[in-house]
Amino acid sequence: MTLEASPARAAADGRTKRTLFCPTCGHESAMDDGWIDDDGTERRRLLCPGCGDTVVDRPRP
Ligand SMILES: [Zn+2]
Repeated sequence: MTLEASPARAAADGRTKRTLFCPTCGHESAMDDGWIDDDGTERRRLLCPGCGDTVVDRPRP
């Protein structure tokens, strides 16, 4: 497992997209990129691919 601290690359990628941040492990990624979408419940959940913690948990529309 490789952890890269590359703020320059993140900045170049732009912060205009919705970016989610995992408070548990610090994983950061665009909302539609890399997060695990848990469809197993009524709620919309996005899980962190790094630590598996729930980052987004809200009712489906
Ligand atoms: Zn995490």
